[in-house]
Amino acid sequence: RAQGDGRSRVRFFEPDMDMHVERRINIERELRSAIAADIIEPHYQPVVSLVSNRIVGFEALARWESRTLGHIPPDVFIPIAEETGLINALGDQLFRRACSDATAWPKAFSLAFNISPVQLRDSALGERLISILEQTGFSPHRLEIEITESAFVERSGAAKTVIDGLRQAGVRIALDDFGTGYATLSQLLSFRLDKIKIDRSFVSHLDDSTDSRVIVRAILGLANGFGLTTTAEGIEDEGQLVYLVSNGCTEGQGYLFSGPVPAAGIPALLDREASDGPVTGDGARSLH
Ligand code: C2E
Ligand code: MG
Ligand code: MG
Ligand code: MG
Repeated sequence: RAQGDGRSRVRFFEPDMDMHVERRINIERELRSAIAADIIEPHYQPVVSLVSNRIVGFEALARWESRTLGHIPPDVFIPIAEETGLINALGDQLFRRACSDATAWPKAFSLAFNISPVQLRDSALGERLISILEQTGFSPHRLEIEITESAFVERSGAAKTVIDGLRQAGVRIALDDFGTGYATLSQLLSFRLDKIKIDRSFVSHLDDSTDSRVIVRAILGLANGFGLTTTAEGIEDEGQLVYLVSNGCTEGQGYLFSGPVPAAGIPALLDREASDGPVTGDGARSLH
C-alpha cells in the first residue's frame, strides 16, 4: 500500500493481518458480483463403482475463476458466502445449474451435491431444492445430498426437517468426510443415511499408516453392517484402490480415475472410459 494512504496512519493490524482483511473484503465484493453474474459453476468429478468398474455418478464441485482475483477455491469462498448470507443464493444457483447439466448426461448417472451445515439451518431449503428439481425435470431419485457430521452435532431442528423432507421425496443422503467430525454414533443413527464417504485423510495414508488401515477397515465394516453404500474419497494410487476393494468398499473417487471436469468435458471422459474398458486397473491412469 502507498505511503500517505490515509489508513496507513492508523494501522491497528500487523501488515500480514491487514493484507488478510483487505483480501477478504475484495473476495466478498467480487463474490457478490460473481453470484449476480452467475459465473460460479459446478465441475464434476466421476464416482466409480468398485464392483462394476464403471462410472456411476458425478459429484458437483463449485469452481470460481474471478476476472480480477483469479482462481478462488471453494474452501475459501463457501465459508465467506456463509458468513455474508450469500450462500442461499449461491447454493440455489449451483444446484439449478447442476440439475440442468445432469439432465443432458447420456445415462441416468447420479448427481452428488454438497450442502453445508450453515445451509441446513434454513428450514425452507428442502422445498426450494425440490422446486428446482421440478423446474429442471431432474429426478430426485438420481440425487444424493452430501452433508457433514457437523450437521448432526448442531442440534437445530431445521437440518432434520430439511433432510427428512428430501428423503421423503426420494433423495439419498450421504455423510461426507466421515471420520473427521465429532458426531457420536447415536447422533449419526438418528438420521437415516444411505451412504458414508470415507475422508481423503484416511485414504491417502493407507500405504504408510497402520492406524489408517485399521480405521478404514472398521468404517467399512460398520457401514456394511448397517447396509450403507461406501465411497472412498481421494484415491490416488493403485495400492489404495486394492486395499479398499479387498475390504469391501463399494465406490471410489479420486485423481486415479479423474479430477473434477467442466460439464463440457464429460462426453470426452465417457468416450475414454468406453474405449479403454474398465476405469480401474490399467485403464485408470488414462482417464486421469
Ligand atoms: P468435498 O465435498 O469433500 O470434496 C472433495 C474435495 O477433494 C474436492 O475439493 C475435490 O476436488 C478434492 N479431490 C477429489 N479427488 C482428489 C484426490 O484424488 N486428491 C486430492 N488431493 N483431492 C481430491 P474442492 O473441489 O476444492 O472442494 C472442497 C470442499 O468445498 C468440498 O469438499 C466441499 O466441502 C466444499 N464444496 C465444493 N463445492 C461446494 C458446493 O457447491 N456447495 C457447498 N456447500 N460446498 C462445496
Ligand atoms: Mg463432497
Ligand atoms: Mg469429502
Ligand atoms: Mg470436504
